Amino acid sequence: RIVYLNGEYLPEEEAKISIFDRSFLMADGVYEVTSVLDGKLIDFDGHAKRLERSLNELGMQKPQAFDDLLEIHRALVEKNGIEDGLVYLQVSRGSAGDRDFAFPDPEQVKPTLVLFTQNKPGLADSPASKTGIKVISIPDIRWHRRDIKTVQLLYPSMGKMMAKAAGADDAWMVEDGFVTEGTSNNAYIVKGNKIITRALSNDILHGITRAAVLRFAREAQMEVEERSFTIDEAKKADEAFVTSASGFVMPVVEVDGATLGDGTPGNVAKRLREIYLDESRKVAI
Ligand code: PMP
Repeated sequence: RIVYLNGEYLPEEEAKISIFDRSFLMADGVYEVTSVLDGKLIDFDGHAKRLERSLNELGMQKPQAFDDLLEIHRALVEKNGIEDGLVYLQVSRGSAGDRDFAFPDPEQVKPTLVLFTQNKPGLADSPASKTGIKVISIPDIRWHRRDIKTVQLLYPSMGKMMAKAAGADDAWMVEDGFVTEGTSNNAYIVKGNKIITRALSNDILHGITRAAVLRFAREAQMEVEERSFTIDEAKKADEAFVTSASGFVMPVVEVDGATLGDGTPGNVAKRLREIYLDESRKVAI
C-alpha cells in the first residue's frame, strides 16, 4: 500500500514518524475518515470542514498541505486502485523532540499529516447492512469535547469489545439517562414515522453522515425530531439505526436484548440508506 506522510507518497513500510510525536504520546491529534465508492470520495467537503474546525478548537496549526487535501485523497485512491473503501487522515500537533504536557510553541513544531487507504470491496453491500446490527448500552465516560474528532479512541474501542463479549455488534453510550451516540456512529430511533436523534452539542460528534441523512430525510418529507432519548424508549421503538462515513445508514435490530419490530431492518432505515447512497454517489468527487 502507498501511504502519504508530510508531502511524500511512500510504501507503508517506509513511512516513519518520531516516537516523540504528540499523537503517540498524548493522543494529541485529530482525524477524519472519508468513504470511497466507485473510486470517488463521499462527502469530502464536509470532512475537510470538520477537520478545520477540530484543528481550530485545539489551537493546532493547519498542515502545510491543507489546501491540497482533495488532491492527496484522490492520488491515494488512484495509486492504491481503490474502488470501494476508505481514506483515513490524521493530523498530529507534531513532535518537539521531547515529552512535555504543555503544547510546544507553534513556531517550533510542524504538524504531522498522515493519510492511508483501506480497501473494502462491496462496502455499500455489507452483510451487516442486510441483517442489521445488535447494540448494548454502556455508560459514556468520555471527556466532554466529543465534538472534536480526536484520536483518543480507547474507550470507544473498549465499548466495541464489551459489545462483542456480550454477543452484540456495537455499543450505545448513555449519560445522565440519555443515549449520546454509538462508539463510532450517531444513534437514531424511529417511532411511527418520526426519526429521533440527539441534538448537536459538545456531547456528540457532529456526524457528516448525520447532517446529510437528516437533510435527505427532510427533503423526502420525513419527520425529524432532534432530541435526546433513553434506552427504554429505544427498546420500545419501531426501528433504530446508526450513521457513519464508513457504515452509511446501518439498521439496528436489537437494543440491550430487546428485538425491535420483527428483528429485521426497518423500512425507514432501509429507505434512508438507499437515498443516502444514491444521492451521495451523484455528488461524489
Ligand atoms: N460519532 C462518533 C463517536 C464517531 O466516531 C463517528 C465516526 N467517526 C460518528 C459519530 C459518525 O460521524 P461521520 O458520519 O462523520 O463518520
